[in-house]
Amino acid sequence: MAHLLDGIDAPEETRAGRERSDAPGGRRTGDDGRRYGDRELVRRTAPYFRGQGSAVVFVTFAVVAAAVTGSALPVLLARAVDAAWTDGGNGAVGLLVGALVGAGGVSWLCTFLQERRTAVVVGAVVLRLREHAFTAALRQGMAFHDARPTGAVVSRVVNDTQAFAQLTTLVLGSLGQVLTVLLLMGALFVIQVPLALVTTAVAALIVVVSLVFRRAARDASRRQQQALADVQGFVQETLRGVTVARNYRQQRAAEAGLRAVDARWFRASVRLNRLFSGVFPLLISLTGLGTVAVVLVGGHLVGRGGVTVGEWVLFLEALALFWAPLTGIAASWSQLQQGLAAGERVFALLDRNPTVHRTGGAPVPRLRGEIVLRDVHFGYDRTRPVLKGVDLTVRAGETVALVGHSGAGKSSLVRVVTRAYEFQRGSVTVDGRDVRGFDPVEYRRHLGVVTQTPFLFTGSVADNIARGRPGAGRDAVEAAARAVAGGDWLAQLPAGLDTSVDEGGRNLSAGQRQLVGLARVFLQDAPVLILDEATASIDPLTGALVQEGLDALAADRTTLVVAHRLPTVRKADRIAVVEDGRIVEEGDHATLLAGGGAYQRLYERYFRFQRPDADPADVPS
Ligand code: ATP
Repeated sequence: MAHLLDGIDAPEETRAGRERSDAPGGRRTGDDGRRYGDRELVRRTAPYFRGQGSAVVFVTFAVVAAAVTGSALPVLLARAVDAAWTDGGNGAVGLLVGALVGAGGVSWLCTFLQERRTAVVVGAVVLRLREHAFTAALRQGMAFHDARPTGAVVSRVVNDTQAFAQLTTLVLGSLGQVLTVLLLMGALFVIQVPLALVTTAVAALIVVVSLVFRRAARDASRRQQQALADVQGFVQETLRGVTVARNYRQQRAAEAGLRAVDARWFRASVRLNRLFSGVFPLLISLTGLGTVAVVLVGGHLVGRGGVTVGEWVLFLEALALFWAPLTGIAASWSQLQQGLAAGERVFALLDRNPTVHRTGGAPVPRLRGEIVLRDVHFGYDRTRPVLKGVDLTVRAGETVALVGHSGAGKSSLVRVVTRAYEFQRGSVTVDGRDVRGFDPVEYRRHLGVVTQTPFLFTGSVADNIARGRPGAGRDAVEAAARAVAGGDWLAQLPAGLDTSVDEGGRNLSAGQRQLVGLARVFLQDAPVLILDEATASIDPLTGALVQEGLDALAADRTTLVVAHRLPTVRKADRIAVVEDGRIVEEGDHATLLAGGGAYQRLYERYFRFQRPDADPADVPS
């Protein structure tokens, strides 16, 4: 019965971001509506088996040999019974028993070698496929990742690659089973047609019941898996917001929420269980009925001399032997579909063009860093523009601060410059060359980017800084850390550069993360610096250190900074005010303030309260 369960409980149906729908004609739809026929999938998979030709031939041969010897076993057994029955254990019996043991040994050895070799071949295919899928996922622009939960992408790279590659194991296993059943059936029909028909009818009934059951079970299983995914999602989300949920009332609400989703899971689980407990006895009864029929018809035929006792035993044995392969083949069909769907998701990822279009692969020379945006239009979603015709020039070596209300489009503007997203209209040039002509990966190497809360990897602070320049030694890392505010900030960390960093940098403050990010960029030594200042409150000391680090970095680099802090704004060579997706004012602090325009209003509402002499009572809540 294990076969029947195979695939039913697979999480395929509930995997977040499941993007498949079966289409007629053996074609399925993958990501972005891409369609792949079964033949195309096989063709695409073939190169992954390159260099494994001899292993594939060996495995196929072993499968056939195992099936032939496996199906010979009951026939030999029947002959041995007949020999013992008729001549009371003479030489023929000994010979047949020897042949039985030999065939059993060969069958076992072939199966063992086949499975061992297949595991190696499939493992190698998974490695290659996973590497390609991972690279493809890394290559995608931010829009791709925005549109999908991280879990869905992880699942494609990790699970789908494995599920697809394991189709090989499945196909070989099914091939062996089909062959065994066919050979045995052939033997039965050669021996006695009416009895063979009885056995085949029972076998067919087992297959039909298995298939009907699988369909019902798949629906029930899908519902149960969905309910489980809901429970997981609920718990995950609640725990992520644990600080909010801790508030007593929220906790009550969270508990009630869990009870509701859990109740759905409970009902679905009970239903699934009921189905399973119903079908087991049914299939066992069917086999029992089949056995009774073979005993009755066979006994009658033995009496009439139509079949020998040994052949009668063979028919009874065959029913028992059919059980596992038949339910196995029924199970394999949906597993096959799942594996193909997984393959489709993998190839859809491999074939997906990154949303940041690379119109040219021109090598990127060392940039001076003159950035010019002309009439740039951009929206994350094409129907909702965020940048509505931005014109901005940042001269080489200049520091420009972008200021504006929350949601005005400042971060989006720098994301367009860094090519994290593709803009829809206008042009962006660096040193007079269209950024779309550059290879985006190479282009980004020339940009030192520090985001609001730089992502830090698990490891030490030193490891994280070292990512700025692969292969950099400890001395270079220390020098980069000292270049940011003289390295004073390291004293605030429990073990300085060797302080361990938790996943994502959770154990460091927003300011500390920015300092690490700045040190990383120092090491990278990129000619253009793009900084999105932390909006989270940074204590004055860390704030001063960030400022010092930024000043040192910006000194000889083109710098575009999304500024939230007054000192950064004041020190910039130029301030650009962003309002509703456009640059509405440009100039230095004093001029803009005197102008009485957008900057002055912004200053009055926001920056003024950051002055050291500001009265805390004036600060707007
Ligand atoms: P803040 O000062 O709060 O960081 P901002 O001026 O940098 O704000 P943006 O982050 O550029 O503003 O956001 C501009 C608009 O784009 C907002 O309406 C925001 O909701 C939307 N937006 C930002 N990021 C995304 C995203 N990844 N997907 C869809 N919409 C987004």
